[in-house]
Amino acid sequence: MKTKYILNFNPEASNLPITHNLIAEYGLLVNILRAEIDEVGGKMLIEVSGDEASTKNGVEYLEKIGVGVRPFKEGVRRNDETCTHCGACVSICPTDALSIDPETRKVKFDEDKCVACGVCIDACPPRAMEILI
Ligand code: SF4
Ligand code: SF4
Repeated sequence: MKTKYILNFNPEASNLPITHNLIAEYGLLVNILRAEIDEVGGKMLIEVSGDEASTKNGVEYLEKIGVGVRPFKEGVRRNDETCTHCGACVSICPTDALSIDPETRKVKFDEDKCVACGVCIDACPPRAMEILI
């Protein structure tokens, strides 16, 4: 199974090789989707692939070393009142999470396909896309 998590690092945890440990010690595949981290801490969005027990053990390991872990559910949001359906985000979205509905000609946002890469955030003229990390 694949699960996305937002990790919050304090200064102590920010220098630990947590990705390596999740892979080597817990047999998980870890994909870093977004990171804003430096020596004083920060946040990271990761996608973890592995069975349920391994994922649970990996999360427990992170919490034990002081990393805040919360599931990533509503990470990217579109403000439907602000979106003008200009289409500027459609061709740059790497996962086709943003696409043009052939019937309405409006831009659809499929949250399940979104990997929170953040590309659309800066590209959206009226700033309708927002990442909650
Ligand atoms: S770039 Fe922004 S305003 Fe244009 S369609 Fe995409 S989300 Fe809507
Ligand atoms: S954050 Fe990335 S994957 Fe998600 S909608 Fe924007 S461009 Fe597409």
